[in-house]
Amino acid sequence: MPATVDYDAFTGMLKTAADRIITNRDHLSKLDAATGDGDHGTAMAKVANAIIATIDSHEGNDLKKLLKAIGWAAMSTDAGSTSPLYGSLFVGMSEAVPEGSGELDCQVLASVMESGAAKLRKNTKAEVGDKTMIDTLVPALAALRAAADSGKAIDEALSDAETAAATGAASTKDLKATFGRAKNLGDRSIGHLDPGATSMSLLFTGLKEGLAAN
Ligand SMILES: [Mg+2]
Repeated sequence: MPATVDYDAFTGMLKTAADRIITNRDHLSKLDAATGDGDHGTAMAKVANAIIATIDSHEGNDLKKLLKAIGWAAMSTDAGSTSPLYGSLFVGMSEAVPEGSGELDCQVLASVMESGAAKLRKNTKAEVGDKTMIDTLVPALAALRAAADSGKAIDEALSDAETAAATGAASTKDLKATFGRAKNLGDRSIGHLDPGATSMSLLFTGLKEGLAAN
């Protein structure tokens, strides 16, 4: 496993993550139907298709420009609150990529993801425990940072992040929703996985699998 991921490897990871979402579209919408309006799979598939289309039409190998373009494409999708959340995630990621950089090492990858999360979190007041995507994102990035700081290789670091993401997503089942439509269900939201936490977990699985496939 090389110490860095280059443009082709990273876009392969993003495409695999997007494929994971598209494959699970119906599953995500079913989860959303239990506590919300049942459109989460459709919304996430729109973002996933925007990711793939942007990669396919992007010229050159500048990851900073690519991630910014993905962010704007995601923001321009008609996917409700999902559009600004994922749009800001990718624009935020772009901001932490060094100028003109065509590859990322594990430390930079962690910083890029943290920058994305920081920007995403400007669009939501949700914290860990509120039964949202934040329950997946925060522990996944903490695991990624810990792995990077301990000198782990990128594949190991992404594996740690995926495990933490899956645990975080699973934790939403026993939580009571305090955000979105699910909030209206109160205690009846308990016992259902949060769809946004689940799709975020699928993305981390896809990033890991996409790296392994390279
Ligand atoms: Mg919904």
